[in-house]
Amino acid sequence: MAYDRNNIFAKILRSEIPCNKVYEDQYALAFYDISPAAPVHILVIPKGEFTAFSDFMAKASSELILGFHKAITKVIQELKLETSGYRLVSNCGEDAGQTVAHLHFHILAGESLGGLVGQ
Ligand code: 5GP
Repeated sequence: MAYDRNNIFAKILRSEIPCNKVYEDQYALAFYDISPAAPVHILVIPKGEFTAFSDFMAKASSELILGFHKAITKVIQELKLETSGYRLVSNCGEDAGQTVAHLHFHILAGESLGGLVGQ
């Protein structure tokens, strides 16, 4: 799948539409999901044109891959989610229900999150 530069997260990265920012560095941007599925629901996206996880791992530099994952970790630490726990999810492709074709990880927390699939 080709990367669509007009996807909603590309527009957020270019500051063409606003987001409720949680964290940003040279590798990643984290912001609150517009339609939260848990009391804490944050999206973390890499700075670059990657449709999903496999595309990212195939094309991104080692520096970006490391920086992106460290950014996710920083968000988890800054929001102090490690003690009570959190879920890290990335929907990739049709069967997973991915709706925005720019790689993103969901950080979900703040309550008992239940079963993994098909609730
Ligand atoms: P997916 O379904 O691709 O795994 O996740 C996409 C997520 O992006 C959804 O949870 C959806 O609520 C969120 N989302 C879609 N549009 C926007 C937006 O304009 N702003 C923010 N903050 N989140 C969005």
